[in-house]
Amino acid sequence: MKEHLQGMSLPELEQIISAKGGKSYRAGQLLQALVLDKAVADITTLPQSLKQALAEEYSFNAAEIIKALSSKDNSVKYLYKLNDSNIIEGVFICQSYGNTLCISTQVGCKMHCAFCASGLDGFVRNLTAGELAAQVYSANVHKGGDRQKRAVSNVVLMGAGEPLDNYDNVIKFLRLISDKNGLNISLRNITLSTCGLVPQIKRLAGEGLPITLAISLHHAKDDRRAALMPINNKYSIGEIMAAAEYYYKKSGRRVSLEYALIEGKNTDIADAKALAELVKGKDYHINLIALNEFKEGKMQAPSAANIKRFMAELAKSGANYTLRHSAGGDIDAACGQLRRSYLEGESH
Ligand code: SAH
Repeated sequence: MKEHLQGMSLPELEQIISAKGGKSYRAGQLLQALVLDKAVADITTLPQSLKQALAEEYSFNAAEIIKALSSKDNSVKYLYKLNDSNIIEGVFICQSYGNTLCISTQVGCKMHCAFCASGLDGFVRNLTAGELAAQVYSANVHKGGDRQKRAVSNVVLMGAGEPLDNYDNVIKFLRLISDKNGLNISLRNITLSTCGLVPQIKRLAGEGLPITLAISLHHAKDDRRAALMPINNKYSIGEIMAAAEYYYKKSGRRVSLEYALIEGKNTDIADAKALAELVKGKDYHINLIALNEFKEGKMQAPSAANIKRFMAELAKSGANYTLRHSAGGDIDAACGQLRRSYLEGESH
């Protein structure tokens, strides 16, 4: 696979261009074209000879939108084709405070959480920084945005894959996407969600990137969490919470806890009490979401009454929580489902 220009910073582009005999100011023009996801033929600002020399060695478009499915609630599900023909997915979600794009960080996933569709076909590979950025660039253009008027204002690393298992590319992406010379998305508008890779959480705390960290918790007791998330056998809840605390202290950013409500697995009063106990006296925000059911999954979302009961128990303890509504249910928006149905050759 050719290297992705969309993953390069301005200084890197300057070097590449000078190696091809171009003037350094061309790097800025190239970066602007890359951010707008221009095909090489459509770039009018660069000389033909330079474009040709670059195209021989590098790829300009790292993630091509091959399908965009709009749902009733105005969210859009994207299927992207990578240069090596792997398929990944993302979701664009309209919100009152802006528009969020949920991106994938790996093709497949190694983590094998029992309730998630992303890892069902196993792990294929990490996404490059260019492929991470290209998901945002191409969706922004697809929704009519440019560099000044962005259609994508927020990014969440909550699609398929474990971002902290692709650490270096994700860090490079975060710096690129927030670069003033690039799309300039505020780091404060970016959320990274992790299943709880403790050493990487601590490392992330030292990067000086003011993003929001979200931890996929899903249970407050180790044995029950391990039954849902095998990674808990490696890093316990205690270790994860200590890392989250460290992240909070270092970054000043409040950490979110993700909790998908799964009938019979984590929705009893005792489960709510354990969760409330875990966050007692601490500044966490709990994001509840009803499980997104999928075809191959054996687990179910709880009834509305059970969700209410769970929330009432949390409220009693003064815990800080919100129930998130899952966007795009009619377009298989959740977690690896669209890619799977595409790979199975279903039509939508
Ligand atoms: N690997 C990262 C990010 C990807 S998953 C992580 O684990 O956080 C993004 C979020 O979706 C996580 O909180 C994950 O637990 C949740 N999720 C996965 N499958 C789900 C499903 N079927 N219903 C609801 N949430 C789900």
